[in-house]
Amino acid sequence: MLKLRGAALAVLTFVLFPSSSLAAPVRAPQHAPAAERRAMLLREIPTQAKLIAFTFDDGPNQRYTPQVLELLRKYHAHATFFVIGQEVVRFPAMIKTIEAAGMEVGNHGMHHKWLHKLTPGEVRQEITAGADAITAAGGKKPYLYRLAGGFESEAAAKLLGRLGYTMVGWSVDPRDWRMGASADSIEQIIMRDAEPGHIVIMHDGSIHREPTITALRHVLPALEAKGYQIVSVGELLQRSDYATLRELAPKPCSKKAKTVHKAKPAAPRSWIERLRPSARTPAGRQAS
Ligand SMILES: [Zn+2]
Repeated sequence: MLKLRGAALAVLTFVLFPSSSLAAPVRAPQHAPAAERRAMLLREIPTQAKLIAFTFDDGPNQRYTPQVLELLRKYHAHATFFVIGQEVVRFPAMIKTIEAAGMEVGNHGMHHKWLHKLTPGEVRQEITAGADAITAAGGKKPYLYRLAGGFESEAAAKLLGRLGYTMVGWSVDPRDWRMGASADSIEQIIMRDAEPGHIVIMHDGSIHREPTITALRHVLPALEAKGYQIVSVGELLQRSDYATLRELAPKPCSKKAKTVHKAKPAAPRSWIERLRPSARTPAGRQAS
C-alpha cells in the first residue's frame, strides 16, 4: 500500500493547467487546449504492484553505463536512462545499446542547463536539441524529461507539455551525486526508502561512479529478495493503478497494462498540486 508521508504529500505532482486561484477546480486534461497543456511532474507512480523504477542520469558514459546495464541484466531489472545530449554526441552507440537491453531513454537536456535560468528560446533549444541527439543516435523519440538540477519553471512545464513530455522527478534520492558518497550510504537510503511505485534517482555519468555501481550490486538482489521488481518509468506507468497515468506510457505497451489493471477515473485530489509559477523547488529533493 502506498504511503503518502508528511511533507511528501506532494510526492505525485500533477501539473495540469493554469488557474487564477489555488482553490480553482482542476479540469480534466482532455478538455484543455493544447497551448495550455503543461507537462505532468511525477515523483512517484501509485501502484498496488511491488514495483520500483530505477533511473540513471547524466550519461551515457562509456565506462559506467555498460556496468549498470550488465547488473540490471543479471537481475532481470529495467531502468530509464536520462541522458545528456552532449554526452550522447560523444558516445552515440550507447543509445542503441541501452535500448537493445530493454531499457528506456529519457531526455535530460542538451547541456544539462537549469531551465529556470534560461529564456523561452533557450529552453526550447535545450529540450529539442537533447531529443534530436537521442534520435540522431538511433534512439526512440523521448517522451520523458528530467529537469537538470530538478529545477522547475513555468515556461519549461508549458513547453514540455506542448511537446508531449511527462516530467519525471524522484522519491528516493540516495545522494550518489554528493562528493564522498559511499556505497554503503547509497545502499542504506535506497533500502530505507524503497516502496511500491517509488522512483529512485542515481547517476551513471559525469564523475566517478564506483560507489553507485557497488551499491547497485547490493540493492538489486536485496530488493529482489523483498519481492520487488525493478522497472523503467514507462513500465511503472503501464502498471499504475490509475488510467490517467497508464495513458502516459508508450502506446505499444499500454495495451498490456489495460489487461492487467482495472481502470479508475482519475487520481485522488490529494495527489494533485499546481506548479507554482516561477517555482525553483527541486523536482525531487536535491540535484539531479
Ligand atoms: Zn543531471
